[in-house]
Amino acid sequence: MSEDQAPSPELFDKIVNLTKRRGFVYPSAEIYGGFRSTYDYGPIGVLLLRNVKDAWWRSMVQLRGDVVGLDASILSPPQVWEASGHLANFTDPLVDCTNCKQRFRLDKLDDPEQCPSCGKRGTFTEPRQFNLMFKTQAGPVEDAASVAYLRPETAQGMFINFKNVIDTTRVRPPFGIAQIGKSFRNEITPGQFVFRTREFEQMEMEFFVPPGEAAQWYEYWCSERYQWYLDHGMPASRLRVRAHDADELSHYSSGTSDVEFLFPWGWDELEGIANRGDYDLTQHATHSGEKLEWYDQAANERWTPHVIEPAAGATRTAMAFLMAAYDEEEVRGETRVVLRFHPRIAPYKAAVLPLSKKPELTGPAGELAAELRGSFMVDYDETQSIGRRYRRQDELGTPFCITYDFESLEDHAVTIRERDSMEQERVPVADVASYVAERLG
Ligand code: ATP
Repeated sequence: MSEDQAPSPELFDKIVNLTKRRGFVYPSAEIYGGFRSTYDYGPIGVLLLRNVKDAWWRSMVQLRGDVVGLDASILSPPQVWEASGHLANFTDPLVDCTNCKQRFRLDKLDDPEQCPSCGKRGTFTEPRQFNLMFKTQAGPVEDAASVAYLRPETAQGMFINFKNVIDTTRVRPPFGIAQIGKSFRNEITPGQFVFRTREFEQMEMEFFVPPGEAAQWYEYWCSERYQWYLDHGMPASRLRVRAHDADELSHYSSGTSDVEFLFPWGWDELEGIANRGDYDLTQHATHSGEKLEWYDQAANERWTPHVIEPAAGATRTAMAFLMAAYDEEEVRGETRVVLRFHPRIAPYKAAVLPLSKKPELTGPAGELAAELRGSFMVDYDETQSIGRRYRRQDELGTPFCITYDFESLEDHAVTIRERDSMEQERVPVADVASYVAERLG
């Protein structure tokens, strides 16, 4: 597949199939027939997802002096969502087909007159606004006072902790608060595999700036975030930043851009970057009665910071990295499937493969794997032929395969095969850790 093309629907099916076959993603509660577009991340998928989140955290928090982290609760009281506007406005337009009784999200229909399920025209009800928040009860009594919501985004955790963070740390605007965590939306039509699910993970950052600097910081974050995907292996030909038209903007936003990826169904959102003004802090200040301002001692001035928000989906982005990495090529008359992940994103960094199951090889190979595990995730596989084991690692996207053979017993060296070029090099066992670490970057 050429890298500037979206995968075809057939290729999409192959990729989805590979994720199941190789332990990336399983349908939730599969032994009970699955559960409403929810998914579980398997032994390989959990590594991929973790690497995506770690890469984001590294760029957004670890490598910066101006962003701190947060991990806020998922359960939250109605007041938060009253103030944020979610109780009133976090809705999608829902239509029912009076013929087949299916329900759809009107703004996502290809043809708003035709039911995509039964094909009938003119059978939709009038649209009504459907609130996407999951409602539950906190505590043993089911009454109005115990109503709680599962957060539909992580962002409000940052706004309601703004005062805690400025009172307890040394931050001063411009600064950010970053958070990775689960969010829940009762999507009307989940689908396209893990692209849209009811339970998903987000990576969000609220960047608080002096009001006069908001426009320039918005530009800054649009380009930083676009670059982050490129730096982690997304081809520029399948990535773009699209500024929202005026009629797409929320009433408080003076600018929003989406980072979009070319999916099999066309361009679609990975992340939204929004210039939110002082809307969120002002709303929470009004509803809670707390002052959510910055006091600039030198100028003796108080002001409400403006907020730039880059909000990305971790699960959606992990899927996009997988699609971008997928490749098929002909090798000696056979099709080789390989995931060309960026080393930071690759689930395993290396696999140790003893050539035979004989203890004289599995012993030292196991020791080498144990040594490397101190530095990164390492797979170990002694089953099947070496060719099949290489193919399995290619399908997991493992950058390096390290083969311990009978010669290794004599020369104390191993063969290291690089995933993309398939080139092999003989490397002394004592140098393997540094050889791999250096090439992983
Ligand atoms: P959409 O218009 O697709 O419903 P949105 O614009 O409401 O999404 P945001 O509220 O901006 O999405 O959320 C930020 C990011 O969170 C999205 O760019 C996406 O990556 C991720 N996200 C949002 N909803 C879902 C979902 N249901 N499943 C998976 N990821 C999601």
